[in-house]
Amino acid sequence: MTVWLLGDQLNPNAAPLQHDDHVLMIEAHGFAERMPYHPQKLTLVFSAMRHARDSLREAGYEVTYVEAESFGEGLDRYFEANQGDALVLQRPASHGAGERLRDMVVDRGGHCTLVDNDGFLTSHEDWDEWVDSRGGSTAGDGGDGTYRQEHWYRHVRRETGVLMDGDDPAGGEWNYDDANRETPPDDWSPPRIPEFEPDAITREVHEFVTDRYDDHWGGADLADFAWPVTREQALHALEQFVEVRLPEFGPYQDAMVEGEWALSHSLLSPAINLGLLRPREVVDAVVDAYRDPDADAPINAVEGFVRQVIGWREFMRHVYRESMPGMDEANQLDQTRDLPEAYWTGETEMTCLSEAVKHVRDRGYAHHIERLMVLSNFALIYGADPHELNRWFHLGFVDAFHWVTTPNVVGMGTFATDAVSSKPYASSANYVNRMSDYCSSCPYYHTKTTGEGSCPFNALYWDFLKDNEAILRGTGRMGLMYSHVDDKDDEEWAAIQERAAEIREMGDDGTL
Ligand code: FAD
Repeated sequence: MTVWLLGDQLNPNAAPLQHDDHVLMIEAHGFAERMPYHPQKLTLVFSAMRHARDSLREAGYEVTYVEAESFGEGLDRYFEANQGDALVLQRPASHGAGERLRDMVVDRGGHCTLVDNDGFLTSHEDWDEWVDSRGGSTAGDGGDGTYRQEHWYRHVRRETGVLMDGDDPAGGEWNYDDANRETPPDDWSPPRIPEFEPDAITREVHEFVTDRYDDHWGGADLADFAWPVTREQALHALEQFVEVRLPEFGPYQDAMVEGEWALSHSLLSPAINLGLLRPREVVDAVVDAYRDPDADAPINAVEGFVRQVIGWREFMRHVYRESMPGMDEANQLDQTRDLPEAYWTGETEMTCLSEAVKHVRDRGYAHHIERLMVLSNFALIYGADPHELNRWFHLGFVDAFHWVTTPNVVGMGTFATDAVSSKPYASSANYVNRMSDYCSSCPYYHTKTTGEGSCPFNALYWDFLKDNEAILRGTGRMGLMYSHVDDKDDEEWAAIQERAAEIREMGDDGTL
Protein backbone atom coordinates (compact mmCIF):
# COMPACT_ATOMS: atom_id res chain seq x y z
CA MET A 1 0.00 0.00 0.00
CA THR A 2 1.05 3.58 -0.61
CA VAL A 3 -0.03 6.51 1.54
CA TRP A 4 -1.29 9.38 -0.62
CA LEU A 5 -0.61 12.57 1.34
CA LEU A 6 -2.45 15.72 0.31
CA GLY A 7 -0.98 19.19 0.80
CA ASP A 8 -2.98 19.75 3.99
CA GLN A 9 -2.10 16.35 5.47
CA LEU A 10 1.55 16.88 6.27
CA ASN A 11 1.59 15.44 9.78
CA PRO A 12 4.52 12.99 9.83
CA ASN A 13 2.89 11.04 12.67
CA ALA A 14 -0.42 10.46 10.87
CA ALA A 15 -1.79 6.97 11.47
CA PRO A 16 -1.41 5.64 7.88
CA LEU A 17 2.31 6.52 7.93
CA GLN A 18 2.78 4.12 10.84
CA HIS A 19 1.82 1.16 8.61
CA ASP A 20 3.33 1.94 5.20
CA ASP A 21 6.61 3.40 4.07
CA HIS A 22 5.64 4.29 0.48
CA VAL A 23 4.25 7.78 0.03
CA LEU A 24 2.74 9.62 -2.95
CA MET A 25 2.48 13.43 -3.07
CA ILE A 26 1.15 15.44 -6.02
CA GLU A 27 1.87 19.17 -6.35
CA ALA A 28 -0.95 20.21 -8.70
CA HIS A 29 -0.15 23.55 -10.26
CA GLY A 30 -3.30 23.99 -12.36
CA PHE A 31 -5.44 23.21 -9.28
CA ALA A 32 -3.93 26.34 -7.73
CA GLU A 33 -5.52 28.37 -10.53
CA ARG A 34 -9.12 27.54 -9.62
CA MET A 35 -9.15 30.89 -7.82
CA PRO A 36 -6.59 33.70 -7.71
CA TYR A 37 -5.27 32.37 -4.38
CA HIS A 38 -3.01 34.63 -2.36
CA PRO A 39 0.64 34.13 -3.40
CA GLN A 40 1.59 33.64 0.26
CA LYS A 41 -0.89 30.76 0.53
CA LEU A 42 0.55 29.03 -2.54
CA THR A 43 4.10 29.62 -1.35
CA LEU A 44 3.17 28.20 2.04
CA VAL A 45 1.46 25.06 0.74
CA PHE A 46 4.03 24.13 -1.93
CA SER A 47 6.97 24.92 0.34
CA ALA A 48 5.49 22.93 3.24
CA MET A 49 4.84 19.98 0.90
CA ARG A 50 8.41 19.96 -0.39
CA HIS A 51 9.80 20.20 3.12
CA ALA A 52 7.53 17.33 4.25
CA ARG A 53 8.74 15.27 1.27
CA ASP A 54 12.37 15.79 2.29
CA SER A 55 11.74 15.03 5.97
CA LEU A 56 9.90 11.84 5.11
CA ARG A 57 12.74 10.74 2.83
CA GLU A 58 15.24 11.47 5.60
CA ALA A 59 13.10 9.34 7.93
CA GLY A 60 13.37 6.43 5.47
CA TYR A 61 10.13 6.68 3.50
CA GLU A 62 10.16 6.16 -0.24
CA VAL A 63 8.37 9.26 -1.53
CA THR A 64 7.12 9.67 -5.10
CA TYR A 65 6.68 13.42 -5.54
CA VAL A 66 4.92 14.43 -8.75
CA GLU A 67 4.70 18.00 -10.03
CA ALA A 68 1.75 18.08 -12.42
CA GLU A 69 -0.97 20.34 -13.76
CA SER A 70 -3.78 18.40 -12.11
CA PHE A 71 -4.36 15.49 -9.74
CA GLY A 72 -5.55 13.54 -12.79
CA GLU A 73 -2.28 14.07 -14.62
CA GLY A 74 -0.31 13.28 -11.46
CA LEU A 75 -2.22 10.02 -11.00
CA ASP A 76 -1.78 9.12 -14.70
CA ARG A 77 1.96 9.37 -14.29
CA TYR A 78 1.96 7.51 -10.99
CA PHE A 79 -0.13 4.60 -12.26
CA GLU A 80 1.85 4.27 -15.49
CA ALA A 81 4.79 3.33 -13.28
CA ASN A 82 2.83 1.56 -10.50
CA GLN A 83 -0.01 -0.31 -12.21
CA GLY A 84 -2.85 -1.47 -9.96
CA ASP A 85 -1.30 0.01 -6.82
CA ALA A 86 -3.46 0.43 -3.71
CA LEU A 87 -3.50 3.86 -2.10
CA VAL A 88 -4.64 4.84 1.35
CA LEU A 89 -5.90 8.40 1.73
CA GLN A 90 -7.03 10.31 4.81
CA ARG A 91 -10.56 11.48 4.02
CA PRO A 92 -10.19 15.14 2.98
CA ALA A 93 -12.20 17.57 5.10
CA SER A 94 -13.74 19.40 2.14
CA HIS A 95 -17.08 18.05 0.93
CA GLY A 96 -17.01 15.32 -1.71
CA ALA A 97 -13.24 15.51 -2.25
CA GLY A 98 -12.58 12.01 -0.86
CA GLU A 99 -15.03 10.32 -3.22
CA ARG A 100 -13.81 12.40 -6.19
CA LEU A 101 -10.18 11.46 -5.60
CA ARG A 102 -11.03 7.81 -4.96
CA ASP A 103 -12.94 7.64 -8.28
CA MET A 104 -9.93 9.14 -10.07
CA VAL A 105 -7.72 6.39 -8.68
CA VAL A 106 -10.21 3.66 -9.61
CA ASP A 107 -10.49 5.08 -13.16
CA ARG A 108 -6.74 4.51 -13.51
CA GLY A 109 -6.92 0.91 -12.41
CA GLY A 110 -5.83 1.53 -8.82
CA HIS A 111 -7.49 1.04 -5.44
CA CYS A 112 -8.05 3.73 -2.85
CA THR A 113 -9.12 3.31 0.76
CA LEU A 114 -10.37 6.36 2.62
CA VAL A 115 -9.44 6.43 6.32
CA ASP A 116 -10.02 8.90 9.17
CA ASN A 117 -8.44 12.33 8.80
CA ASP A 118 -5.75 12.77 11.45
CA GLY A 119 -6.01 16.56 11.38
CA PHE A 120 -8.86 16.63 13.88
CA LEU A 121 -9.27 15.76 17.49
CA THR A 122 -12.77 14.31 17.27
CA SER A 123 -14.26 11.77 14.88
CA HIS A 124 -17.55 11.54 13.00
CA GLU A 125 -18.64 8.97 15.60
CA ASP A 126 -17.83 11.36 18.48
CA TRP A 127 -20.06 13.95 16.85
CA ASP A 128 -22.90 11.50 16.20
CA GLU A 129 -22.78 10.36 19.83
CA TRP A 130 -23.02 13.97 20.98
CA VAL A 131 -25.98 14.68 18.71
CA ASP A 132 -27.68 11.50 19.97
CA SER A 133 -26.96 12.43 23.58
CA ARG A 134 -28.75 15.78 23.09
CA GLY A 135 -31.87 14.03 21.90
CA GLY A 136 -31.59 15.88 18.60
CA SER A 137 -35.06 17.32 18.84
CA THR A 138 -34.72 20.99 19.72
CA ALA A 139 -33.10 23.97 18.03
CA GLY A 140 -29.35 23.92 18.50
CA ASP A 141 -29.23 20.20 19.23
CA GLY A 142 -28.95 19.00 15.68
CA GLY A 143 -32.55 17.85 15.31
CA ASP A 144 -33.42 20.73 12.99
CA GLY A 145 -30.00 21.09 11.34
CA THR A 146 -28.84 23.76 13.83
CA TYR A 147 -26.03 23.28 16.35
CA ARG A 148 -24.57 25.34 19.19
CA GLN A 149 -20.86 25.44 19.86
CA GLU A 150 -21.05 25.93 23.62
CA HIS A 151 -22.92 22.64 24.14
CA TRP A 152 -20.44 20.75 21.97
CA TYR A 153 -17.43 22.41 23.60
CA ARG A 154 -18.41 21.35 27.11
CA HIS A 155 -19.14 17.84 25.87
CA VAL A 156 -15.65 17.54 24.32
CA ARG A 157 -14.01 18.89 27.48
CA ARG A 158 -15.86 16.29 29.56
CA GLU A 159 -15.13 13.43 27.15
CA THR A 160 -11.43 14.23 26.69
CA GLY A 161 -10.70 15.51 30.20
CA VAL A 162 -8.95 18.54 28.66
CA LEU A 163 -8.73 21.36 31.21
CA MET A 164 -10.90 19.46 33.68
CA ASP A 165 -10.47 18.91 37.40
CA GLY A 166 -12.42 15.71 37.80
CA ASP A 167 -15.97 16.44 36.65
CA ASP A 168 -15.52 20.20 36.92
CA PRO A 169 -13.96 22.70 34.55
CA ALA A 170 -10.50 23.83 35.69
CA GLY A 171 -10.73 27.12 37.55
CA GLY A 172 -14.41 26.53 38.25
CA GLU A 173 -15.93 28.14 35.13
CA TRP A 174 -16.55 26.87 31.61
CA ASN A 175 -16.14 30.27 30.07
CA TYR A 176 -13.94 33.26 30.88
CA ASP A 177 -15.14 35.54 28.07
CA ASP A 178 -15.79 38.37 30.50
CA ALA A 179 -12.06 38.62 31.22
CA ASN A 180 -11.20 38.44 27.51
CA ARG A 181 -12.77 41.59 26.14
CA GLU A 182 -10.18 44.20 27.08
CA THR A 183 -8.38 46.66 24.86
CA PRO A 184 -4.69 47.36 25.49
CA PRO A 185 -3.46 50.70 26.86
CA ASP A 186 -2.18 53.28 24.34
CA ASP A 187 1.49 52.55 25.04
CA TRP A 188 1.15 48.78 24.60
CA SER A 189 3.15 46.97 21.92
CA PRO A 190 2.36 43.40 21.06
CA PRO A 191 4.91 40.72 21.89
CA ARG A 192 7.24 39.77 19.04
CA ILE A 193 6.13 37.10 16.60
CA PRO A 194 8.33 34.12 15.73
CA GLU A 195 10.46 34.66 12.65
CA PHE A 196 11.50 32.08 10.09
CA GLU A 197 14.14 33.01 7.54
CA PRO A 198 12.96 31.65 4.15
CA ASP A 199 15.34 28.87 3.09
CA ALA A 200 16.32 27.79 -0.43
CA ILE A 201 13.14 25.72 -0.91
CA THR A 202 10.83 28.54 0.16
CA ARG A 203 12.70 31.03 -2.01
CA GLU A 204 12.53 28.73 -5.03
CA VAL A 205 8.81 28.10 -4.53
CA HIS A 206 8.18 31.79 -4.02
CA GLU A 207 9.92 32.60 -7.31
CA PHE A 208 7.85 29.97 -9.11
CA VAL A 209 4.61 31.24 -7.53
CA THR A 210 5.22 34.91 -8.29
CA ASP A 211 6.15 34.01 -11.87
CA ARG A 212 3.34 31.59 -12.67
CA TYR A 213 0.51 33.14 -10.64
CA ASP A 214 1.40 36.76 -11.24
CA ASP A 215 -2.25 37.84 -11.63
CA HIS A 216 -3.35 36.42 -8.25
CA TRP A 217 -4.75 38.65 -5.52
CA GLY A 218 -2.56 39.71 -2.59
CA GLY A 219 0.94 40.87 -1.83
CA ALA A 220 3.81 38.60 -2.77
CA ASP A 221 6.56 40.20 -0.72
CA LEU A 222 8.64 37.46 0.88
CA ALA A 223 9.58 39.87 3.68
CA ASP A 224 5.93 39.62 4.83
CA PHE A 225 5.93 35.81 4.82
CA ALA A 226 5.53 34.84 8.48
CA TRP A 227 4.46 31.21 8.27
CA PRO A 228 6.21 28.05 9.48
CA VAL A 229 6.81 25.62 6.60
CA THR A 230 8.23 22.67 8.54
CA ARG A 231 7.07 20.74 11.56
CA GLU A 232 10.12 21.95 13.51
CA GLN A 233 9.25 25.57 12.75
CA ALA A 234 5.61 24.95 13.64
CA LEU A 235 6.62 23.42 16.98
CA HIS A 236 8.82 26.44 17.60
CA ALA A 237 5.89 28.77 16.81
CA LEU A 238 3.72 26.86 19.27
CA GLU A 239 6.36 27.01 21.98
CA GLN A 240 6.93 30.72 21.40
CA PHE A 241 3.19 31.38 21.59
CA VAL A 242 2.83 29.52 24.88
CA GLU A 243 5.88 31.15 26.46
CA VAL A 244 5.62 34.69 25.15
CA ARG A 245 2.19 35.53 23.74
CA LEU A 246 -0.39 33.43 25.59
CA PRO A 247 -0.86 35.62 28.71
CA GLU A 248 -1.93 38.61 26.60
CA PHE A 249 -3.86 36.50 24.08
CA GLY A 250 -6.48 36.18 26.82
CA PRO A 251 -7.55 39.74 27.61
CA TYR A 252 -6.78 41.19 24.15
CA GLN A 253 -8.18 38.45 21.92
CA ASP A 254 -11.09 40.64 20.77
CA ALA A 255 -9.08 43.87 20.48
CA MET A 256 -8.00 45.71 17.31
CA VAL A 257 -5.10 48.16 17.24
CA GLU A 258 -4.16 50.39 14.31
CA GLY A 259 -0.95 49.27 12.60
CA GLU A 260 -0.91 45.88 14.36
CA TRP A 261 -1.92 42.79 12.40
CA ALA A 262 -0.99 39.98 14.80
CA LEU A 263 -1.52 41.29 18.34
CA SER A 264 -1.20 38.28 20.66
CA HIS A 265 -2.98 35.78 18.47
CA SER A 266 -1.28 32.43 18.06
CA LEU A 267 -0.99 32.62 14.23
CA LEU A 268 -1.13 28.82 14.33
CA SER A 269 -4.13 28.18 12.04
CA PRO A 270 -2.04 27.70 8.86
CA ALA A 271 0.21 25.15 10.60
CA ILE A 272 -2.74 23.32 12.18
CA ASN A 273 -4.73 23.27 8.94
CA LEU A 274 -1.76 21.90 6.96
CA GLY A 275 -1.19 19.13 9.51
CA LEU A 276 2.16 20.50 10.69
CA LEU A 277 0.63 20.64 14.16
CA ARG A 278 -2.05 18.38 15.59
CA PRO A 279 -4.90 20.09 17.42
CA ARG A 280 -4.44 17.87 20.48
CA GLU A 281 -0.75 18.71 20.90
CA VAL A 282 -1.53 22.42 20.56
CA VAL A 283 -4.16 22.21 23.29
CA ASP A 284 -1.94 20.04 25.50
CA ALA A 285 0.93 22.55 25.26
CA VAL A 286 -1.32 25.33 26.52
CA VAL A 287 -2.89 23.23 29.29
CA ASP A 288 0.56 21.99 30.41
CA ALA A 289 1.59 25.62 30.84
CA TYR A 290 -1.51 26.21 32.98
CA ARG A 291 -0.57 23.24 35.19
CA ASP A 292 3.05 24.40 35.47
CA PRO A 293 3.47 26.60 38.57
CA ASP A 294 6.49 28.32 36.99
CA ALA A 295 4.69 29.31 33.77
CA ASP A 296 2.63 32.42 33.16
CA ALA A 297 -0.58 30.94 31.76
CA PRO A 298 -3.69 32.49 33.30
CA ILE A 299 -6.90 30.48 33.15
CA ASN A 300 -8.78 33.07 31.06
CA ALA A 301 -6.13 32.90 28.32
CA VAL A 302 -5.83 29.11 28.48
CA GLU A 303 -9.55 28.45 28.47
CA GLY A 304 -10.09 31.03 25.70
CA PHE A 305 -7.53 29.28 23.52
CA VAL A 306 -8.74 25.75 24.27
CA ARG A 307 -12.26 26.81 23.30
CA GLN A 308 -11.05 28.09 19.92
CA VAL A 309 -9.42 24.79 19.08
CA ILE A 310 -11.53 22.02 20.58
CA GLY A 311 -14.71 24.08 20.58
CA TRP A 312 -14.85 26.20 17.46
CA ARG A 313 -12.49 24.42 15.08
CA GLU A 314 -13.91 20.93 15.65
CA PHE A 315 -17.46 22.29 15.77
CA MET A 316 -17.13 24.09 12.44
CA ARG A 317 -15.68 21.01 10.81
CA HIS A 318 -18.59 18.81 11.87
CA VAL A 319 -21.33 21.36 11.17
CA TYR A 320 -19.86 21.78 7.69
CA ARG A 321 -19.99 18.00 7.16
CA GLU A 322 -23.59 17.86 8.30
CA SER A 323 -24.70 20.93 6.36
CA MET A 324 -23.11 20.33 2.99
CA PRO A 325 -23.94 20.55 0.15
CA GLY A 326 -26.79 22.89 1.21
CA MET A 327 -24.50 25.27 3.08
CA ASP A 328 -22.68 26.05 -0.15
CA GLU A 329 -25.82 27.67 -1.54
CA ALA A 330 -27.59 28.86 1.61
CA ASN A 331 -28.73 32.47 1.53
CA GLN A 332 -31.61 32.80 3.98
CA LEU A 333 -31.43 36.61 3.96
CA ASP A 334 -31.38 36.64 0.17
CA GLN A 335 -28.39 38.98 -0.10
CA THR A 336 -27.04 39.46 -3.61
CA ARG A 337 -24.94 42.64 -3.84
CA ASP A 338 -21.38 42.58 -5.16
CA LEU A 339 -18.71 43.05 -2.49
CA PRO A 340 -17.68 46.68 -2.08
CA GLU A 341 -14.73 47.53 -4.33
CA ALA A 342 -12.66 48.24 -1.21
CA TYR A 343 -12.40 44.50 -0.48
CA TRP A 344 -10.34 44.15 -3.65
CA THR A 345 -8.47 47.47 -3.69
CA GLY A 346 -8.10 48.15 0.04
CA GLU A 347 -8.91 51.75 -0.82
CA THR A 348 -11.39 53.27 1.58
CA GLU A 349 -11.47 56.13 4.07
CA MET A 350 -12.87 53.75 6.70
CA THR A 351 -9.88 53.04 8.95
CA CYS A 352 -11.22 49.69 10.21
CA LEU A 353 -11.96 48.30 6.75
CA SER A 354 -8.79 49.66 5.23
CA GLU A 355 -6.66 48.12 8.04
CA ALA A 356 -8.36 44.73 7.87
CA VAL A 357 -8.17 44.46 4.06
CA LYS A 358 -4.54 45.59 4.16
CA HIS A 359 -3.69 42.79 6.60
CA VAL A 360 -5.27 40.25 4.29
CA ARG A 361 -3.61 41.67 1.18
CA ASP A 362 -0.15 41.87 2.76
CA ARG A 363 -0.17 38.70 4.86
CA GLY A 364 -3.11 36.52 3.86
CA TYR A 365 -4.18 36.88 7.47
CA ALA A 366 -6.44 38.96 9.69
CA HIS A 367 -7.30 37.93 13.21
CA HIS A 368 -10.64 36.57 14.26
CA ILE A 369 -12.31 39.82 15.28
CA GLU A 370 -11.26 41.61 12.10
CA ARG A 371 -12.67 38.67 10.14
CA LEU A 372 -15.93 38.56 12.07
CA MET A 373 -16.70 42.08 13.23
CA VAL A 374 -15.17 44.12 10.41
CA LEU A 375 -14.86 42.12 7.19
CA SER A 376 -17.93 39.90 7.41
CA ASN A 377 -20.03 42.22 9.59
CA PHE A 378 -19.64 45.01 7.05
CA ALA A 379 -20.38 42.72 4.08
CA LEU A 380 -23.43 41.38 5.94
CA ILE A 381 -25.08 44.72 6.69
CA TYR A 382 -24.06 46.05 3.26
CA GLY A 383 -26.08 43.21 1.72
CA ALA A 384 -23.20 41.42 -0.04
CA ASP A 385 -23.67 37.96 -1.50
CA PRO A 386 -22.39 35.54 1.20
CA HIS A 387 -20.92 33.25 -1.45
CA GLU A 388 -18.90 35.99 -3.07
CA LEU A 389 -17.63 36.85 0.40
CA ASN A 390 -16.84 33.17 1.02
CA ARG A 391 -14.86 33.07 -2.23
CA TRP A 392 -13.01 36.25 -1.20
CA PHE A 393 -12.05 34.69 2.14
CA HIS A 394 -11.14 31.41 0.47
CA LEU A 395 -8.75 32.95 -2.04
CA GLY A 396 -7.38 35.62 0.28
CA PHE A 397 -6.35 33.80 3.47
CA VAL A 398 -3.36 31.55 4.05
CA ASP A 399 -5.38 29.28 6.37
CA ALA A 400 -8.45 29.01 4.12
CA PHE A 401 -9.89 25.69 2.99
CA HIS A 402 -13.46 25.10 1.87
CA TRP A 403 -14.32 23.07 5.00
CA VAL A 404 -13.34 25.85 7.41
CA THR A 405 -14.01 29.04 5.48
CA THR A 406 -17.55 28.06 4.47
CA PRO A 407 -19.09 27.49 7.93
CA ASN A 408 -17.28 30.56 9.26
CA VAL A 409 -18.40 32.86 6.46
CA VAL A 410 -21.73 31.41 5.37
CA GLY A 411 -22.75 30.34 8.88
CA MET A 412 -21.12 32.54 11.47
CA GLY A 413 -20.22 35.67 9.52
CA THR A 414 -23.21 36.28 7.28
CA PHE A 415 -26.04 34.26 8.86
CA ALA A 416 -26.84 32.84 5.43
CA THR A 417 -27.84 29.76 7.41
CA ASP A 418 -28.74 29.43 11.09
CA ALA A 419 -26.75 26.18 11.39
CA VAL A 420 -24.08 27.65 13.68
CA SER A 421 -25.68 30.64 15.34
CA SER A 422 -29.15 31.75 16.40
CA LYS A 423 -28.58 35.38 15.44
CA PRO A 424 -26.37 37.33 13.05
CA TYR A 425 -23.09 38.86 14.17
CA ALA A 426 -24.24 42.29 13.02
CA SER A 427 -23.28 45.49 14.73
CA SER A 428 -23.06 49.24 14.25
CA ALA A 429 -19.91 51.34 14.75
CA ASN A 430 -20.31 50.88 18.51
CA TYR A 431 -18.54 47.54 18.51
CA VAL A 432 -15.54 48.67 16.45
CA ASN A 433 -15.23 51.79 18.56
CA ARG A 434 -15.36 49.82 21.82
CA MET A 435 -12.83 47.18 20.77
CA SER A 436 -10.34 49.26 18.76
CA ASP A 437 -8.58 52.58 18.40
CA TYR A 438 -9.62 52.82 14.74
CA CYS A 439 -12.43 55.33 15.13
CA SER A 440 -10.18 58.00 16.61
CA SER A 441 -8.21 58.35 13.35
CA CYS A 442 -11.14 57.77 10.99
CA PRO A 443 -12.67 60.65 9.02
CA TYR A 444 -16.12 59.11 9.53
CA TYR A 445 -17.91 59.93 12.78
CA HIS A 446 -18.73 56.77 14.68
CA THR A 447 -21.34 58.64 16.75
CA LYS A 448 -23.29 59.83 13.70
CA THR A 449 -25.86 57.62 12.00
CA THR A 450 -27.03 59.75 9.11
CA GLY A 451 -25.90 62.71 7.06
CA GLU A 452 -22.52 63.60 5.70
CA GLY A 453 -19.53 62.06 7.45
CA SER A 454 -21.59 59.54 9.41
CA CYS A 455 -19.93 56.13 9.86
CA PRO A 456 -21.17 53.71 7.17
CA PHE A 457 -21.59 50.98 9.78
CA ASN A 458 -24.44 52.88 11.47
CA ALA A 459 -26.97 53.54 8.73
CA LEU A 460 -26.25 50.15 7.16
CA TYR A 461 -26.83 48.43 10.49
CA TRP A 462 -30.30 49.90 11.07
CA ASP A 463 -31.23 49.49 7.43
CA PHE A 464 -30.17 45.83 7.62
CA LEU A 465 -32.32 45.22 10.70
CA LYS A 466 -35.33 46.88 9.12
CA ASP A 467 -34.87 45.13 5.80
CA ASN A 468 -34.58 41.67 7.36
CA GLU A 469 -37.17 42.15 10.05
CA ALA A 470 -39.39 39.30 8.88
CA ILE A 471 -36.64 36.78 9.60
CA LEU A 472 -34.65 38.42 12.38
CA ARG A 473 -37.29 39.79 14.74
CA GLY A 474 -38.43 36.29 15.59
CA THR A 475 -34.99 34.79 16.19
CA GLY A 476 -35.35 35.24 19.93
CA ARG A 477 -32.13 37.01 20.81
CA MET A 478 -32.83 40.19 18.81
CA GLY A 479 -35.54 41.58 21.07
CA LEU A 480 -33.53 44.49 22.45
CA MET A 481 -32.36 45.56 18.99
CA TYR A 482 -35.90 45.52 17.64
CA SER A 483 -37.09 47.62 20.55
CA HIS A 484 -34.67 50.30 19.23
CA VAL A 485 -35.96 49.75 15.70
CA ASP A 486 -39.49 50.34 17.02
CA ASP A 487 -38.40 53.61 18.67
CA LYS A 488 -37.41 55.28 15.40
CA ASP A 489 -39.91 57.49 13.60
CA ASP A 490 -40.55 57.82 9.85
CA GLU A 491 -38.24 60.79 9.49
CA GLU A 492 -35.34 58.87 11.03
CA TRP A 493 -35.99 55.89 8.78
CA ALA A 494 -36.06 58.07 5.69
CA ALA A 495 -32.65 59.53 6.61
CA ILE A 496 -31.24 56.09 7.43
CA GLN A 497 -32.41 54.63 4.15
CA GLU A 498 -31.06 57.57 2.19
CA ARG A 499 -27.64 57.28 3.85
CA ALA A 500 -27.56 53.49 3.44
CA ALA A 501 -28.33 53.82 -0.29
CA GLU A 502 -25.60 56.46 -0.64
CA ILE A 503 -23.06 54.19 1.09
CA ARG A 504 -23.94 51.24 -1.12
CA GLU A 505 -23.39 53.44 -4.17
CA MET A 506 -20.04 54.55 -2.75
CA GLY A 507 -19.21 50.89 -2.11
CA ASP A 508 -19.99 50.03 -5.73
CA ASP A 509 -18.00 52.85 -7.27
CA GLY A 510 -15.03 52.55 -4.93
CA THR A 511 -15.44 55.84 -3.07
CA LEU A 512 -16.28 54.50 0.38
P1 FAD B 1 -6.19 32.22 17.43
O1 FAD B 1 -7.06 33.39 17.67
O2 FAD B 1 -4.89 32.20 18.11
O3 FAD B 1 -7.02 30.89 17.78
C1 FAD B 1 -6.42 29.62 17.96
C2 FAD B 1 -6.87 28.58 16.97
O4 FAD B 1 -8.24 28.26 17.12
C3 FAD B 1 -6.74 28.94 15.51
O5 FAD B 1 -5.43 28.74 15.07
C4 FAD B 1 -7.71 27.99 14.85
O6 FAD B 1 -7.09 26.76 14.57
C5 FAD B 1 -8.78 27.78 15.90
N1 FAD B 1 -10.02 28.52 15.62
C6 FAD B 1 -10.49 29.57 16.31
N2 FAD B 1 -11.70 29.92 15.85
C7 FAD B 1 -11.99 29.10 14.85
C8 FAD B 1 -13.11 28.96 13.99
N3 FAD B 1 -14.17 29.77 14.08
N4 FAD B 1 -13.06 28.02 13.05
C9 FAD B 1 -11.98 27.20 12.93
N5 FAD B 1 -10.91 27.27 13.73
C10 FAD B 1 -10.93 28.20 14.69
N6 FAD B 1 -10.07 29.80 10.37
C11 FAD B 1 -9.32 29.07 9.54
O7 FAD B 1 -8.51 28.26 9.99
N7 FAD B 1 -9.43 29.19 8.18
C12 FAD B 1 -10.32 30.06 7.62
O8 FAD B 1 -10.40 30.15 6.39
C13 FAD B 1 -11.12 30.86 8.48
N8 FAD B 1 -12.00 31.76 7.97
C14 FAD B 1 -12.75 32.52 8.82
C15 FAD B 1 -13.69 33.41 8.29
C16 FAD B 1 -14.49 34.16 9.12
C17 FAD B 1 -15.51 35.09 8.54
C18 FAD B 1 -14.37 34.01 10.52
C19 FAD B 1 -15.24 34.81 11.43
C20 FAD B 1 -13.44 33.15 11.05
C21 FAD B 1 -12.63 32.37 10.23
N9 FAD B 1 -11.70 31.46 10.75
C22 FAD B 1 -10.95 30.70 9.89
C23 FAD B 1 -11.60 31.22 12.20
C24 FAD B 1 -10.56 32.10 12.93
O9 FAD B 1 -10.82 33.44 12.66
C25 FAD B 1 -9.14 31.72 12.56
O10 FAD B 1 -8.93 30.35 12.78
C26 FAD B 1 -8.12 32.49 13.40
O11 FAD B 1 -8.33 33.87 13.25
C27 FAD B 1 -6.72 32.11 12.96
O12 FAD B 1 -5.77 32.88 13.60
P2 FAD B 1 -4.91 32.34 14.82
O13 FAD B 1 -4.28 31.04 14.47
O14 FAD B 1 -4.02 33.45 15.24
O15 FAD B 1 -6.04 32.05 15.86
